[in-house]
Amino acid sequence: MSKDYAKAFYKSQKWIRKRELILKRDEYKCRECKRYGKTSPATTVHHVIPLDQRPDLKLNINNLISLCDKCHNQMHNRITGELTEKGMEWVERIAPPPFLV
Ligand SMILES: [Zn+2]
Repeated sequence: MSKDYAKAFYKSQKWIRKRELILKRDEYKCRECKRYGKTSPATTVHHVIPLDQRPDLKLNINNLISLCDKCHNQMHNRITGELTEKGMEWVERIAPPPFLV
């Protein structure tokens, strides 16, 4: 997937609307912090299965969760671009095999 594709996607009206819908669904709170009984304002909507892996799920509400910046940074290895162990936990939570394949 090209960088341009992702760039255009994140600017699209469809994404902007969907993002707002997800934040509203999650009451503008971080879903990862919530697991630990904490309340943090969500600032980001995260693709549990990354956009480049499953572009078909880019607007699927089951693949989208609201996160705070701190938790979002913990989902991705910023050097390799891969999901971290924490990121993979969410994949398993929303998409147990064979959904993934
Ligand atoms: Zn958080």
